[in-house]
Amino acid sequence: MNKFAEQQLHLRDNSYHWLVTGAAGFIGSNLVETLLRLNQKVTGLDNFATGHRYNLDEVREQVGEDAWSRFTFQEGDIRQLADCARACEGVDFVLHQAALGSVSRSIADPITSNDVNVTGFLNMLTAARDAKVRRFVYAASSSTYGDHPALPKIESQIGKPLSPYAVTKYVNELFADVFARCYQTESIGLRYFNVFGPRQDPHGAYAAVIPQWIAALIENRPLFINGDGETSRDFCFIDNVVQANILSAMAPSEAANQVYNVALNERTSLNQLHQMMCALLRQRYPHVEGHQPQFKDFRAGDVRHSQADISKAATLLGFAPTHRIGEGLQQAMEWYIDHLDRTR
Ligand code: NAD
Repeated sequence: MNKFAEQQLHLRDNSYHWLVTGAAGFIGSNLVETLLRLNQKVTGLDNFATGHRYNLDEVREQVGEDAWSRFTFQEGDIRQLADCARACEGVDFVLHQAALGSVSRSIADPITSNDVNVTGFLNMLTAARDAKVRRFVYAASSSTYGDHPALPKIESQIGKPLSPYAVTKYVNELFADVFARCYQTESIGLRYFNVFGPRQDPHGAYAAVIPQWIAALIENRPLFINGDGETSRDFCFIDNVVQANILSAMAPSEAANQVYNVALNERTSLNQLHQMMCALLRQRYPHVEGHQPQFKDFRAGDVRHSQADISKAATLLGFAPTHRIGEGLQQAMEWYIDHLDRTR
């Protein structure tokens, strides 16, 4: 039996109290859903800056009223220490996802990104320490690799950050590390690489590429590629990220106070991604046949290529991704086809 299956069995028989910050967002709401299905008690914290109530409504529909009764939602802002402290009361594990994502957003407004992603992070780390939570698992980012040229990326080799967002995510790692030294806390940072899947927001200036393109293709709107389309990413389906979070919370102490790549060790260019998406959608939407993207300038702050070495997570956490990009895209498409109207 693999490690994740083993931990799922353990959780079904042992109920813990989890705090998921950013619970109304894409990754957070998927974590809440899985934890509730696994019999866990969950508190969610969110201020709806980029998350949506309809994500939580959908979780409720998916898990049913019995499981939903184990969920408590607290509307609050991680920039307020008191909100963080209240959310951490009686909690065993924190899965900290709340942040302002997007490289472009941080270039447009570095101060707000810093307030949420750095001050908010420090507040959460402090509140978790004071509440004596067992483990603080947090969303780090592949953007921390910055301008380091090596591929695939290994955790110990990072370059200079290319955006304010990347700085904030690196500072998170530094604070988590220093808290372990000064206060003997246990944390694990997960460097996510381009996560995608159901409930990722397709709208707005800072939407991620996959949901933005799915919506554009379904609605027959123009689709833009920044650069020549040969920029590549290690696209990671949400189920793999949920797995990494749960494994990190349950891993032995020797695995703590470190960071781990979470992806597949595969690289897909934007041109390839466009072709894969058209192939998946054209039967249902004939207008997608022969679709051509429009090319724009390269975007400031973007890394050219990204691919993760995931051997550290495999060895120390037992991480074994279940979904490659094709399977993930298929599932994501099905969700957007059924739910696109609801995301407005
Ligand atoms: P998301 O925008 O869907 O979720 C973030 C959630 O945090 C939202 O619900 C938002 O309302 C909430 N939030 C923002 N500011 C807050 C505040 N001040 N107080 C309380 N809640 C607040 O984004 P996501 O894709 O689910 O990202 C989750 C985490 O993963 C973030 O930390 C992000 O930086 C990180 N991450 C995501 C990716 C990706 O590809 N999606 C890649 C690397 C890292």
